[in-house]
Amino acid sequence: TVRTRVAPSPTGDPHVGTAYIALFNLCFARASGGQFLLRIEDTDQQRSTPESEQAILDSLRWLGITWDEGPDVGGPHGPYRQSERMELYGEYARQLVEAGKAFVCYRTAEELDALREAQRESGNSNALKYSDLKLPDDEVAKREAAGEPYVIRMIVPEEEGACAVDDMLRGTIELDWGMVDAQVLLKSDGMPTYHLANVVDDHLMGITHVIRGEEWINSAPKHKLLYEYFGWDMPQLCHLPLLRNPDKSKLSKRKNPTSILYYQRMGFLPEALLNYLGRMGWSMPDEREKFSLEQMLAEFDISRVSLGGPIFDVEKLRWLNGMWMREDLDTEQLADRLQQWAFNRENLLQVLPHAQKRMEVLSDFAPLAAFLVSGTLPITETDFGGIKGEREDLVKGLQFALWKLEAQRHWTRDTIWNDLKGLADALDVKVKDYLAPMFIAIAGSSASFSVVDAMEILGPDMSRARLRHAIE
Ligand code: ATP
Ligand code: GLU
Repeated sequence: TVRTRVAPSPTGDPHVGTAYIALFNLCFARASGGQFLLRIEDTDQQRSTPESEQAILDSLRWLGITWDEGPDVGGPHGPYRQSERMELYGEYARQLVEAGKAFVCYRTAEELDALREAQRESGNSNALKYSDLKLPDDEVAKREAAGEPYVIRMIVPEEEGACAVDDMLRGTIELDWGMVDAQVLLKSDGMPTYHLANVVDDHLMGITHVIRGEEWINSAPKHKLLYEYFGWDMPQLCHLPLLRNPDKSKLSKRKNPTSILYYQRMGFLPEALLNYLGRMGWSMPDEREKFSLEQMLAEFDISRVSLGGPIFDVEKLRWLNGMWMREDLDTEQLADRLQQWAFNRENLLQVLPHAQKRMEVLSDFAPLAAFLVSGTLPITETDFGGIKGEREDLVKGLQFALWKLEAQRHWTRDTIWNDLKGLADALDVKVKDYLAPMFIAIAGSSASFSVVDAMEILGPDMSRARLRHAIE
């Protein structure tokens, strides 16, 4: 039977791209009476967090995506979190070493740099192979005896030629072996890389079809080789086109909100967002724009995915969401949705610690909290007028903040504060003055509670969207 999976890495906010890939895997599995599972790829221990994992699971569920097996629901092929399968990968890596398909590599970072530099100078192919990396036996023995750190790398073909990879949508793709390096499989801390863990798990979990983003095409030769080395059947591959910004560039948080949490906070309906993701590169046979997950499942055919980069256009999504609001919710249902969205207990408990100090009567709450249940805020010249400094300088300050915060991967009040404080110091202005226009951009007025707390609650995408809006 068909088995598909989505394999997110819990290293940040839940990405709409992850939901898009999950949706197509779900549809493919269900349409063929198979199973769909969710695996957490958290081998990057520096960047993976349990909060991110939880947010991914919650967001996918919110959208209406369900899985048959996964870290939260269990299943016969678990555990479904790679950090809980660590011994496994080491064993498989050593198995390849014994079979002469992989080797222990004691090369230091400096040696690797020097090798790459030498290659660049000789105008050689830019991949490092076994023959480049190999050390004399006595040198290996010496480093081993000294207990020096090592990695395990796979051996890849060194002669000229191409690897042919079959893709369900693209037919046979040829990828030059010259570009493929002796990929690290097991890192010096004993952790597997994505390539090893992904192949081992797809095999052990009985995955028959790997449907993933096209950014992984270049990894396919390494994966194909690993399946051959292990003597396993390779799943069929299907690389979906990446989502794009309206200007056709790859969807990125610099131009578009990419976090599902943003769309939640903005008040999009999950069924409308899921519908929109279903329209990314795919269409119903009758081209209708509005359809439910059930309707999509009933008509699903992966060969109708078109490879031209699908544009994720928030304006178009708004329009579709409006249709869902008007056509699928009666007044009672809309009241429930609104109550659940805006004034649920969780939201209130998050805001009240900040608002309470500033309240004398309950009605003080609405103006204090209005910015939390709004989208982008209207910014007028007069808003900035009350603030010390030239408008030009204020905008520049906001732009610096936006750039800094776009790179911030750990979104907490402390990290935000450190970023902004650092900028104020670098610009040689008082933090208070530096933050003043940010109050306007984030909260719509300077009378709000701490702008840093407000940004933490709003989340990175909504905060960035408002800063961007204030600059434009
Ligand atoms: P950045 O916004 O900094 O460019 P990113 O968008 O690449 O980062 P990641 O955290 O690397 O974000 O990716 C998170 C997940 O979202 C990955 O599983 C990735 O495959 C998926 N993803 C990222 N961008 C896209 C895209 N344009 N289309 C489809 N999926 C995407
Ligand atoms: N962990 C990878 C990701 O985050 C999975 C890629 C794959 O599906 O093979 O996208």
